[in-house]
Amino acid sequence: MNQERIYLSPPHMGGDEQLYVASVFDSNWIAPLGPMVDQFERELASQAGCAGAVALSSGTAAIHLALRLLDIGPGDRVFCSTLTFVASANPILYVGAEPVFIDSEPDTWNMSPQALERAFEDAVQRGKLPRAVVVVHLYGQNADMDPIVSICERYGVPIVEDAAESLGATYKHRMSGTMGKFGIYSFNGNKIITTSGGGALLSNDLPALDKARYWATQARDAARHYEHSVMGFNYRLSNVLAAIGVGQLAMLPQKVEARRQIFARYEAHLSPMDGIVMMPEAAFGISTRWLTALTLEPDIYGLTAHEIVDQMAQLNIECRPVWKPMHLQPLFQGTDYYEHEEGTSVSDRLFTHGICLPSGSNLTESQQDRVIEGIQSMLYALAR
Ligand SMILES: *Cc1c(COP(=O)(O)O)cnc(C)c1O
Repeated sequence: MNQERIYLSPPHMGGDEQLYVASVFDSNWIAPLGPMVDQFERELASQAGCAGAVALSSGTAAIHLALRLLDIGPGDRVFCSTLTFVASANPILYVGAEPVFIDSEPDTWNMSPQALERAFEDAVQRGKLPRAVVVVHLYGQNADMDPIVSICERYGVPIVEDAAESLGATYKHRMSGTMGKFGIYSFNGNKIITTSGGGALLSNDLPALDKARYWATQARDAARHYEHSVMGFNYRLSNVLAAIGVGQLAMLPQKVEARRQIFARYEAHLSPMDGIVMMPEAAFGISTRWLTALTLEPDIYGLTAHEIVDQMAQLNIECRPVWKPMHLQPLFQGTDYYEHEEGTSVSDRLFTHGICLPSGSNLTESQQDRVIEGIQSMLYALAR
């Protein structure tokens, strides 16, 4: 246990961030808004190929504002991917609406178009369509957007893309987070790029983004004194943190490539082992491989994926089970849920069989070797 700890996805600073932060200190543009926020927003929008971006205090805040921009409130329903972090779904509760969870499909681990279709058919029968669909791009891989967009367009329901884990991923040459009415990114400490904490809302609808900026700045009306006609939030990213973001964003392609190489290395060593299946990458695009995820057949080794996480912790290596689906969370007990096929919940199996390996873009090869050797020695010992 005296070996250094290997973290799941630690921050990866390149060095230039400090230069941008220093320039903020020199100009005394510390709080809260300033030229770095504007630059970060411009560069984000341009990297994404999208009309505009609003830098915010978190990805969660970005989802909250997206739902508010869509005027969603009490009595409304919102469809949401079930296999995700709770931050995708919490904002549905913030606005007083009711989530309905949609299962994954096996090929992408993301929202199942056929489950979504069934959920819509049911909604029509009940005479109550959802007001939005929150589509998550899990572990950096895009959901299969073409069928999802076409279903949503048929019913006239807007999409919010939760691209918190997929900044830099593509879908048929389009950037993740730019295919819905709104897209969100996260710059939390464990994400592809980080501002320590932060997020962004993206859209081609610039007036909507202006409204989000206004709401996120306590909804201050134009006046000499403090004048407020609607409820606001304190959701903007500070100029200091935006400076970190500008430095981080410059390294985005390298960070994605590093995570992909880590995945490839794990795959080369682990996928030949019986019962291990790596998370697939769909042919339609490029995943960021934010976290390397795989599934393991427990019967082969007499050990569940979750027990492996515990055993790796003994080696001072941080692994995690795949997200526990929202429909299984006590918070969302009793919520409607649509399985991929009736009687087959794909996300339930991914949760019980899936684990995520350390995947930070600054993970050294010798650290990767420690992870690989840890898993191999554990499983070979059991297979004997
Ligand atoms: C991290 C994450 C978020 C939330 O982002 P924050 O910036 O931490 O609020 C939302 N959705 C998913 C899928 C995430 O992984």
